[in-house]
This record gives sequence, C-alpha cells and structure tokens, in this order.
Amino acid sequence: MERIQDVSKLVYTHVQGGQFRWVTVSTLMLALGTILHLVSPSVAGITPNWMIATYCVAIHLTRPNYRQSLGIGLVAALINLMTSKSAFPYANLLSEPAGALTCAFVVHIFSKVKLGSHMVPPVVSGFFSTLVSGAIFVTILFYVLALPLDVYLKGMWPLVLIISLCNAVVTPLLYVPAQRLFARRGYLPNADEVISSDHSQYELVPATDAKISIEHFSYYYGSQTKPAIKDVNLVVNDGDFLVITGPAGCGKSTLCMAMIGAVPKFYGGRMEGMVYVNGKATTQAEISELATEIGVVLADYDTQLVTMTVAEEVAFAMENRGYTPEQIKERSAIVFKQVGLEGKEDRKITSLSGGQRQRLAIASVLATNPSILVLDEPTSSLDPEGTEELYRLVGSLNKEYGITVVVIDHDLHAVLPYANRMALMVDGELRCDDVPEKTLRYMYINDIYVDALPSIFTTYMRLEAAGYQFEAPWLSVEAAKTGLKVS
Ligand code: ADP
Ligand code: MG
Repeated sequence: MERIQDVSKLVYTHVQGGQFRWVTVSTLMLALGTILHLVSPSVAGITPNWMIATYCVAIHLTRPNYRQSLGIGLVAALINLMTSKSAFPYANLLSEPAGALTCAFVVHIFSKVKLGSHMVPPVVSGFFSTLVSGAIFVTILFYVLALPLDVYLKGMWPLVLIISLCNAVVTPLLYVPAQRLFARRGYLPNADEVISSDHSQYELVPATDAKISIEHFSYYYGSQTKPAIKDVNLVVNDGDFLVITGPAGCGKSTLCMAMIGAVPKFYGGRMEGMVYVNGKATTQAEISELATEIGVVLADYDTQLVTMTVAEEVAFAMENRGYTPEQIKERSAIVFKQVGLEGKEDRKITSLSGGQRQRLAIASVLATNPSILVLDEPTSSLDPEGTEELYRLVGSLNKEYGITVVVIDHDLHAVLPYANRMALMVDGELRCDDVPEKTLRYMYINDIYVDALPSIFTTYMRLEAAGYQFEAPWLSVEAAKTGLKVS
C-alpha cells in the first residue's frame, strides 16, 4: 500500500458506461469459448484450452481490474465445472480464476511497457495463463486423486506445456477478429484510455475523522475541459446540519453526487483530490457500499419510489440488503415513526400526497440506517406549507436521532432555523462556509446570489446599515419578533 500524503495531486478517471464493457465482451467471448470447447476435435488427445483463450481475449480487449478479472475467471470455472469430463472438475474453481488473474497481470505489465506489435501481449497471456491455470489444475488432481508421481511429472506436465503453446497460438488468432468486431460495434475503449482508475493500492486517510471530508476536490464531467467543481475543501462533522446554496449550475448537485460516490463512479469524468465518507475514500468503495452510510433523496423523489404500497417501499430497500423479515418489521416501525407515516403502511403509494411521497422516499433511504442524509433541492415541488413540514421533519431527524444532514436548497428561509452551518458555492468554487448568519452576511455584503436571501434577513441588514442595533441577526420571523421586543 502506498500512503498518499497529498491528495491534491491524486487523479481518478472513469469512462461512463465503461464499467459494463468488460461484462458484455467477456460474456460473449466465454459463450464462444464454451461452444469451441464442446465442438473442437482433439488432435492426438490435445486441444487448445478455448475457455482460457477466450477470456484472455476479453481481458485484453476491455482491460478489467483484478477483481473483475477474478469474476470472469469464476464464471469460466463454473462453465467448466458443468461441461468438464475431468475426474475432479472442482479444480477449475481455483485454476480458472488464477488463469484470469495471470492474464490481467500480463495486460497490466504491457500497459506499462509498450513492446512489439499488439499481437505480442495475447501470445504472452495465452501461454502464461494456460500454464498457471494448467499447473494448478494438474497439481490439485495429483493430490486429490493420489496419482503416481510419474503420471504427474511425465504425463500431465508435458501436456500442460503443449496446451500452453497451443494457446499462445490460438489466443492472438482469436484476438484479431474479436478486436475488429467489437471495435466496429463501439464496445471497446479508445487506445490508451483508462476505463477506470484503480485506487486500491493506495492508503487513503482523511485529514479529519469527520462524517464527510472533501479535500482538494475538483471534478470534470466526461471529457469536458472546464471543471464543474474547483478545489473544494469541505468538512461535514457528526451531527451537522449543513445547507449548501448557490446559483443554478454552480455545482451543488455535482457535490452532492460526489458525496454518495456517484461522481465519479457513475457519471464518469476526471476527479482530483478526494471525498471521504465515514473515513472511506469514495474511489475505493462501491456506490452501493456507501449507500449504507449516506442516503440521498433527490428533487424528483418520485423516481426513487418503485413499489406499490408504503410498507413494501421501505421493506424493499432492506430486502436488497439481506435483512431478515423480523429485522424489516422492527426497522420499518422505527422509520415510519421517524418520518411520521405511522398508520399509513398499507396505503397505495399513488394515494399519497406529494409531501407524503417525499417522506416515504426519506423513509426508504433511512431504512438501512445511514448516519448521513443528503437532500438535493427537496422542496422544489412542495408548497410553502409542505416545505415547512419537510424541514420540521429533517430538523427532528437531525436533533432527535442524531442524523447528520446536508441540504441543498435555494429556498433558504424554511431550512435555516434548523441549520448550524451554511456553505455558498459559486461557479464550482466554495466561496463561504460558516455559521448561517455569517454566510448570509457574506452573500449580502458581496452581492452574491442575494435573491436567495430570506427577506427578513435583508430587512435586518438594511436596518443595521441604517444604524439600528439588535442582539442577534434575524434568520426567521421569530428572531425578528424577539429582536424588536428587546430593542
Ligand atoms: P447545480 O446543482 O448547482 O445547479 P450542477 O452540479 O447540476 O449545478 O451542475 C454544475 C455544472 O456541471 C453545470 O455547468 C452543469 O451544466 C454541468 N453538469 C451537470 N451535470 C452534468 C452532466 N451529467 N454532464 C455534463 N455536465 C454536467
Ligand atoms: Mg442541482
């Protein structure tokens, strides 16, 4: 593990959709391998190992990482297990993954050293993957079946060597037409394009033990040259209620997507710096893994609802995570109480009001007990009453249940009474990050996005400018009433 001291120099790139190319290509290649394995005649008892040859081609073409290559090897092993006539086919479960990993290693080496024509790597991987896989296979057979040493050394090993040589020939022969075919159909990455950076070899440690630690984070969508986020440093502490605001297009949603790992792992593009959630670097965790720690409700929360009834919706999230029926029952009761949907468990989702459906979206996110809740423009389709009610709920989740909250909104007056911090983003940059009063003042004084300021606060600032003094700034009508009584 290489410990990274300065994450500002750290880069992670990912080609959107690229994560599935290896699945498509390897599935098709393994299907071809299975057919060839079943129909190819043997010459003097020798046939090339078509499965190994085809998954080597798939690994060369799509350059999956080691874990993905292991998956390809396991699928090949299962196919072999079902079709093998060997005395101990279970040996495939070790030999095939080892063969696939060997190929991934060869691909990795050749991506570093450019050597000879593009035919050289498949020759090398065809040979070594078959050798490693074959050696493991016959050695397991030797021990499990207690074969004579002579058979092992003088019969099996030469066979492994000969088949490895055969595969050194057939792998490049399969590689060339497969490469042409898949390239023509747009299945392959461009030359030298890194489909997905691999950060697994890095030791990434956040600067603080905060809930979310965003460090020197910049992000470019796709192949864009202008960053959507520029060198943002932001820490969200346990128990915080942080409001992020800023003009449309300033990067709020992008930042929110970075907190849940969807940027860069789903959206693709180029990321610099690092985002940590509960100490985990988002480039080292799967999005689904992060989802148990950080839940997100989007503006179009209706798209997050997928079942028929209220109870099913909340149970669905937990079923996906392997909760038992008892756990689901227990947790559902807690969550319905938290969001105030008790007694509505059997209602059809279509019969709920917009506000209730949003509570349900929050409930299904809370089902798996994340410690952080992120809401991106949650009030955009709510009326003022619904907005007040929503933030009352989110405020209580924060205060009573200790859930750390991040809210992105441009409608500030309803959310501010619950917030202890407020961040302002402008043009991809974090301009201000302070207690709400200070950030609002910063916006007012620097004339940034003043449209969003609650009118009660602008009134307060005008009165202050006119020489009036109050004990505390007015963030709500209640505060104004108190302030006016005092003065
Ligand atoms: P906000 O939520 O503050 O309105 P966004 O994070 O949605 O801002 O967008 C920030 C910038 O990134 C904008 O310039 C926007 O056009 C761009 N952007 C957002 N989503 C995508 C995307 N999927 N692909 C390319 N550019 C995007
Ligand atoms: Mg947005």
